[in-house]
Amino acid sequence: MFIVQDRPSFIDVHTHFGTDTALSVRRIRNVIVGKEEIMDEPCSVGIHPWYIFDDGKAQLDMFQQMLCDNPSILAIGECGLDKITDTPWQTQESVFFAQLVLATEFAKPVIVHCVRAYQEVIEQIKVAKMATPIIIHGFNKSKELAEQLLQQSFYLSLGADILRGRQDQLIRSIPLGRLFLETDNSDIPISQIYTYFCRVRNLSMDELQAQLWSNFEEVFN
Ligand SMILES: [Zn+2]
Repeated sequence: MFIVQDRPSFIDVHTHFGTDTALSVRRIRNVIVGKEEIMDEPCSVGIHPWYIFDDGKAQLDMFQQMLCDNPSILAIGECGLDKITDTPWQTQESVFFAQLVLATEFAKPVIVHCVRAYQEVIEQIKVAKMATPIIIHGFNKSKELAEQLLQQSFYLSLGADILRGRQDQLIRSIPLGRLFLETDNSDIPISQIYTYFCRVRNLSMDELQAQLWSNFEEVFN
């Protein structure tokens, strides 16, 4: 099989750590605006619904400036809606919407954090008329909900939760062109998540690596 020399073996589309330093891993490190400093490496940057200070306006201003100054920002996020955090709902909605607008303005894909608010996320994305790719990160819900999200043309990123065996049905059915894998805040190596996916999907590691690299190129240019 033809092997492209310069493609990394593994893509970790969403991580909060810098632990997996293997050269064969391309990570997108997540940075939370107003809480963490941006580093000179490919990253996603966003205002997380758990960490919105006051009405979020000062963070949004800071974020806009960061987007102007830092070409290493590959994506907006994680940002989104969360029904089990204390942040007031209206604040969450307005700060999420403002970030969707920034994503359009700066032509960046969006990495979405969503807890018990899928219909609201779908609605906001419709209202914002998003044309840039949307990735629902850490997806660990039902196959039915996955189908609904895939119908909206979203990408789904699966994490270490798949190792628990409850998402095997989804692993067997998800269109590979809409898939990403991630470690998020787990210290399980991304290679292990790839290996599990391959075993359940009955796919070779080469095929999965090539597919996720092509998804990465398509979404992140
Ligand atoms: Zn995360």
